[in-house]
Amino acid sequence: MDGRTVFTSRQEIELAISAARLQGKSIGFVPTMGALHEGHIALVKRAVLECEYVVISIFVNPTQFNNPKDLELYPRMLEKDVDMLKDFNNVVVFAPTVDQVYPSNDSFPGVDLEGLDAVLEGEFRPGHFQGVVHVVYNFFQIVQPDFAYFGLKDFQQVAVIEHMVRQLELKVKIIPCPTLREKSGLAMSSRNLRLTEQQKSDALIIHATLNAMVQKAIELTPNEVAEFARDLFNSGQLKLEYLEIVDPHSLQKLSNQWVKGAVCCIAAFCGDVRLIDNMLIKP
Ligand code: AMP
Repeated sequence: MDGRTVFTSRQEIELAISAARLQGKSIGFVPTMGALHEGHIALVKRAVLECEYVVISIFVNPTQFNNPKDLELYPRMLEKDVDMLKDFNNVVVFAPTVDQVYPSNDSFPGVDLEGLDAVLEGEFRPGHFQGVVHVVYNFFQIVQPDFAYFGLKDFQQVAVIEHMVRQLELKVKIIPCPTLREKSGLAMSSRNLRLTEQQKSDALIIHATLNAMVQKAIELTPNEVAEFARDLFNSGQLKLEYLEIVDPHSLQKLSNQWVKGAVCCIAAFCGDVRLIDNMLIKP
């Protein structure tokens, strides 16, 4: 079985996974929304190294889109995605329809995100993280993975999923993976497909700003670094939605004191494409 094996029905994939389990195989899971790029593939490679049977879901989850236009324009290219996975062994693709993921007897118990969903992305995308935890929970029920791989490109998402796993005492181990970037520094994203060459060049201000912040953080407070960074960012062409330096666990904004692992998260519009990125500012 290689990455060309595509399941669309829940029953079929559950059967295949229980057969793998009966053979004593460890199960890895990589959830995606498709339009795969090297960032996704890095997660797949890691999963394949660490697990004996890997499920990659490709599902554009409607409940995590608060903007209907974003959902409509989200790139979909299942055939091309499957082609990118064809050389991996012990990998299967699960590309279900909405009713397979959200059955009428949906058992999602709900998660209290305790404010993790009120800041950063949560402030600008109401309901987004409730949609994320719901879909990830439902996928975990189907796949029952030992390990699940998530990209730190979506830093807040990793924090939210880890919180869900702790709160619901799920057995899966979450493996956060580093952000893959283009040589230019632009974080890889399916949404980059919607950028023109000029916009891709304009978007480099994100990485340039994050890099500059690391240096500034040596001598300035978080507030001062954030102020410097917003000015630098606003000298470019993108429209800033937020730029915050936060505690990596609580995601609360840092003002005067640094904590180890402080992260800067940015969201901005490049034309009508919304991009996010982040960087560790205080190692
Ligand atoms: P998505 O298809 O955008 O939902 O992403 C699926 C998974 O791939 C998520 O865990 C993302 O954080 C991860 N991912 C997306 N872009 C990157 C990237 N540039 N580097 C590493 N992981 C990524």
